[in-house]
Amino acid sequence: MLIPCPLCGPRDALEFRFVDETVRRPEPQSASPEQWRSYLYLRANRAGAVTELWLHRSGCRQYVVVERDSLTNTVTAARLARKEAVS
Ligand SMILES: [Zn+2]
Repeated sequence: MLIPCPLCGPRDALEFRFVDETVRRPEPQSASPEQWRSYLYLRANRAGAVTELWLHRSGCRQYVVVERDSLTNTVTAARLARKEAVS
């Protein structure tokens, strides 16, 4: 699988480390225990279009938001995570 790093160009996925599905952090002041449990431990693990956070550990060492199809491993988009709130 090739991941198009925005800084380094297309690279083998072995250069990256999967971090997590992108999950919005609940509001700390108002989140219920169930919302925290879901945020910390539950993942959708969907088949099909997913948005994930990867670290380009053997390249630029930047976090990259990757949109891919989990059934075919086709990457449709990749952008730097520092330009958006991921956590
Ligand atoms: Zn890179």
